[in-house]
Amino acid sequence: MRLVLLGPPGAGKGSLAALLKDALNIAHISTGDILREEMKNKTPLGKEAQSYIDRGELVPDELATRLIEDRLKKSPQGYMLDGFPRTVTQAKDLDDILQKVNKPLDCVLCMETAPELIISRLAGRRVCRSCGALYHMKKKPPQKVGVCDVCGGEVYQRPDDNEETVRHRMEVYSKSTKPIIEYYQSKNKLMHIDGDMETIDLFDIVMKKFHEAGKHD
Ligand code: AMP
Repeated sequence: MRLVLLGPPGAGKGSLAALLKDALNIAHISTGDILREEMKNKTPLGKEAQSYIDRGELVPDELATRLIEDRLKKSPQGYMLDGFPRTVTQAKDLDDILQKVNKPLDCVLCMETAPELIISRLAGRRVCRSCGALYHMKKKPPQKVGVCDVCGGEVYQRPDDNEETVRHRMEVYSKSTKPIIEYYQSKNKLMHIDGDMETIDLFDIVMKKFHEAGKHD
């Protein structure tokens, strides 16, 4: 199965991806996670990306595309792209890359989420710095404050999850990323799903739709 997860920040792409990855046995490739790892390791690429990410802006297309091309070449057949593409230019570049590596896309899952829900989800979101496990201060806090239940790593708030930056990221999504929906619609690849739902319910619906469409055996 070869998927793209599309949706605004806070739609729940990462949480859904964590479940789909295991159920479908495919690689989860998140450009946000890759960039955060590069920033943590203070690599030249990480340093270049940092100022864009802290301001809630997109990193340049060429940089994001380079990351994805690398991973797709190395990944097994099945994959799920989370946070890429984010512009129409990236979507077109992705088509070229997928043709080169002979791993064409099956489906684009497009999540739609109410803006006020995005703000409350992201304001409460916390992430493990080591393993990336996701928490929410109200709905799913770690058992011990600041410590990951899974690996014992540090649980922190992403600097770009503050309300002002989140509002800017939502604007960036509307302006730069939403046009991709039309792009994939014209290619008949879109599956719309309700990002307001709880992840586990959404996961069940998505798996059912895949079975009905004969996309997963
Ligand atoms: P995410 O974890 O997907 O919310 O991504 C965090 C940040 O990384 C975004 O706000 C962007 O600054 C940057 N980023 C991630 N993926 C991309 C991409 N495909 N194109 C440009 N910037 C990206």
